[in-house]
Amino acid sequence: MTMAEEKQNNEILKELCPKTGCAKGFVNGPCGGEVNGKCETDKTRDCAWILIYEGLKKNGKLEKFLNQYIEPKKLSFKN
Ligand code: SF4
Repeated sequence: MTMAEEKQNNEILKELCPKTGCAKGFVNGPCGGEVNGKCETDKTRDCAWILIYEGLKKNGKLEKFLNQYIEPKKLSFKN
């Protein structure tokens, strides 16, 4: 992935941040509760992960995004 492509993917994710946009803060959604694009916690609210999916698809970035490997975060403390 080029820097420009990564930047575009990050822009999509930044606009639709899953940590704040998803009611559960999932970084690998959607959860199993989404129905017709709406969030299971509030049916008047769009599912953040569906918006992310549609945004990537609209920009022709979905396949590449789905097939890229992203290193898991290292959550352990040093020392
Ligand atoms: S339906 Fe979507 S926005 Fe709602 S909790 Fe599940 S993944 Fe998050």
